[in-house]
Amino acid sequence: ITKDTEVAIIGAGGAGLSAAVSAHQNGAKVIVIEKMPNVGGNTIISGSAYNAVDEKRQAPQGIEDSIEKFYTQTYEGGDKQGDPELVRVLVENAYPTIEWLESLGMEFKDTVFTVLGALWPRSHKPVEPLGTGYINTYMNYINEHSDEIEILTETEAKELVVSEDGRVTGFIAESKNGKVTVNASKGVIVATGGFGANVEMRDQYNTIWPALTNIKTTNHKGATGDGIVMAEKINASIVQMENIQLLPMGDPETGSLSGNIEQGVENRIFVNSDGNRFVDEGERRDVMTNALMEQEDSMMWVIVDQHSYPTGDTVNNFNESIDSLVEQGRAFKADTLEELAQQIGVSPENLVKSVEAFNAAVDGATDEFGRTLFMHKIDTAPFYAGKRVPTVHHTMGGIKITPETRVVDVNGVVIPGLFAAGEVTGGIHGANRLGGNALTDVNTFGRIAGAQAAKEN
Ligand code: ADP
Repeated sequence: ITKDTEVAIIGAGGAGLSAAVSAHQNGAKVIVIEKMPNVGGNTIISGSAYNAVDEKRQAPQGIEDSIEKFYTQTYEGGDKQGDPELVRVLVENAYPTIEWLESLGMEFKDTVFTVLGALWPRSHKPVEPLGTGYINTYMNYINEHSDEIEILTETEAKELVVSEDGRVTGFIAESKNGKVTVNASKGVIVATGGFGANVEMRDQYNTIWPALTNIKTTNHKGATGDGIVMAEKINASIVQMENIQLLPMGDPETGSLSGNIEQGVENRIFVNSDGNRFVDEGERRDVMTNALMEQEDSMMWVIVDQHSYPTGDTVNNFNESIDSLVEQGRAFKADTLEELAQQIGVSPENLVKSVEAFNAAVDGATDEFGRTLFMHKIDTAPFYAGKRVPTVHHTMGGIKITPETRVVDVNGVVIPGLFAAGEVTGGIHGANRLGGNALTDVNTFGRIAGAQAAKEN
């Protein structure tokens, strides 16, 4: 079958769906294809934190922030490998995109926090769990405009179609009913996400980490880098593919973020199998993961107390209650640190010493690892521990884009009719993406891509 539309989008995660809504708001007819049976991609299973400078929420919490600080932390936190212009677009449009999401009906909590590796308390948390708030917001809009926005699931894009004069005019996909050709008069937006679930592709590009072949991933299984491969075939510039992000926070069985008991950076410490701390737990994700890989068995315990879980039915960032995790044996709970240490098999003496030193740092003593992000001491029972290992989380490399999300070819020339947004793009986050910057990226650049494509002739 052949379908004609104005804006055609490949991938129905956060970037693709924000682009769909934005393109429609800007007057375009839209088709979105998604290879999986359901929309949402990695976005819907993400921890959901969204970074933005937001005086309205930060000032009442006594948090100082500025666009410049956000810019500098993002740029320097990626070892200055990110494209300064793209970083600028990201940090300046982060809050306007929150307002746009709110205009579409999405709700964020009133307080901000520091998500793992965010380096600063500017992470916003949606009211709905995980990434469902973003996806439901976009799907509500799309369902209300289903006469003009069509979504085809179980339809996998295979190749981009380029006209004789070099313009991308559509793509060819496969569904269970056969071949689907989509013609797009205004533009095609590639929003297929990253390649964290493609072990072969990870191995092909990894030059920075030790072998990643046996490391699990937080990603959904559709994160296989298809858009990067399709774009590369038509000469798009593919950049910084070696920049693969790991988290020190994987579930030991699955690699997923599920079961992670941390609630935010300030109130938890990490200890190794000896019960000793080994890193500044407010550090960059790559720094913490590297430090974790140097510990025995590359494993650690996250330690928190009642400040993180005032009650047993308090949920983590994955919407799991601490009681349920303890019941399943995925977290441990005790009335004293000594007892907790015995349950998890670390030296009680070391664990107590580690916590005491941390508590002294909360009170103002210099932290031995240089940590600066604190809130509460770990001093109130019950105490909890959860085991974590390194896991592949995000791929910072991908398709090179301009600030208008136009795809650039290997000679630096814009490919007419082709746009890209979200994790499929490369060169925004550099060597290390700050925690909470992916959802900012995906929603912000998706929104820009939709608007740009809709305005094409
Ligand atoms: P982002 O956060 O950048 O939006 P996501 O992982 O949330 O990335 O979403 C990307 C979506 O694209 C996923 O739902 C994934 O299944 C889909 N996708 C990946 N490759 C293809 C393809 N070849 N055809 C159609 N959809 C695809």
